[in-house]
Amino acid sequence: MSAHCIRSILLGLLLVTSLAHGQGAVRIDDVRVVDPDAGSASWPRSIAVLDGWIVDPDALDGRDVRVIDGSGRWLIPGLYEMHAHVPPVADAERLDDVLTLFLAHGVTGIRGMLGERGHLELRAELAAGQRFGPYLVTSGPSLNGTSAPDPTAARRIVRTQAEAGYDLLKLHPGLMPSTFAALTEAADGLGIPYAGHVSIGVGLDRALAAGQSTIDHLDGYAQALVPDDHPARGRPPGFFGMALAEALDAGRIPALADRTRAAGVWNVPTQTLIENIAIADLDALAARPAMRYVDDETVTGWRERITGLRQPHSATALERFVDVRRALIRGLHTAGAGLLLGADAPQIFNVPGDSTHHELELLVAAGLSPAEALATGTVNPARFLGQPARGCLRAGCVADAVLLDADPLADISNVRRIRGVLRAGSWLDRADLDARLDAVAARARPAATGPD
Ligand SMILES: [Zn+2]
Repeated sequence: MSAHCIRSILLGLLLVTSLAHGQGAVRIDDVRVVDPDAGSASWPRSIAVLDGWIVDPDALDGRDVRVIDGSGRWLIPGLYEMHAHVPPVADAERLDDVLTLFLAHGVTGIRGMLGERGHLELRAELAAGQRFGPYLVTSGPSLNGTSAPDPTAARRIVRTQAEAGYDLLKLHPGLMPSTFAALTEAADGLGIPYAGHVSIGVGLDRALAAGQSTIDHLDGYAQALVPDDHPARGRPPGFFGMALAEALDAGRIPALADRTRAAGVWNVPTQTLIENIAIADLDALAARPAMRYVDDETVTGWRERITGLRQPHSATALERFVDVRRALIRGLHTAGAGLLLGADAPQIFNVPGDSTHHELELLVAAGLSPAEALATGTVNPARFLGQPARGCLRAGCVADAVLLDADPLADISNVRRIRGVLRAGSWLDRADLDARLDAVAARARPAATGPD
């Protein structure tokens, strides 16, 4: 193979896998700009982008500008997925597919909830635009009853992960109260946040008292919704409290929500994961268009997993479980406790990006307005992460945005109608996104042929 040939292959690879930041200027004209905080969209105007940042349109004077027609369209800040799973870097193809799926669905920022060493370098590559994908914030490897069986082990892991430079610690089940206490004390001392599950032995009260930065999956709330004198109090909760469905007292929600707000603890409900597992029609899940990105073996495995999880419970109990969780989401929101958008993908019928859209729909089903749901995936994560230049579309904000063909404030499902994505100022149009998505689908289902 000639040197020229190798060079062109390398150049080609660079073009498909990277996003050069700030190459040229972009202007989207006549677009309605959505402000999730205000719950409104602007009159049609121009949004100007230079070197990856949103700027005043005058700043583009005299430059070679790529102009995008925004007429009849809406622009939202790029979405954050706050409970993502990033494949190991050793699984390079799968990793690229997951990153592509997120970005092509308008997810321009993700919080990886099961990190590894390789994700630290990946985070830098994504931030520098050397790789195609969203902006990444990452946890370290899981802290759980096995990896952190005692306080000494927990302190050691906390120190190692803080020194390595992870953004947060991921908590998983099985931690003992003494281990949790040691962990939180060490983490607070080093200034590294901790987030994720609430171990059964730890319980919601300790998680709130410690100021755990996020509780994911609403873990621990079901146990706290069982009245003190109920025989189910203290019983094994099953999958996120599914086994307690009949004992849940929704009357306890307002007080719990107030305590959550007072503790400054945010929630990432991942309601779509729970509804997939508890009540969704399995054939309908398998028939979702996004399943073209998932191989048959995985779909079969997901079906079996759901069937097993549902098996001990009645349909009535499962429906009640979902209803109370929706009431809890609504109650947390009403109380002013912070909510963050997160679906938990790729897991159990949750395809990266597509499941983020499902989560938005379920937040609206739970009682949030479309604008409030959008806020959980834009301005709220920016506030939570302390990044005032993200999740916004003013001059001075990072140019991460999604151009939609229809109004998301009228119907949240319109977030699916993506015309193009801006990632750090690079414009990805529909044809580019489709080509990348088709490649992911072809890898998942190589046997499938023809257009779809
Ligand atoms: Zn997870």
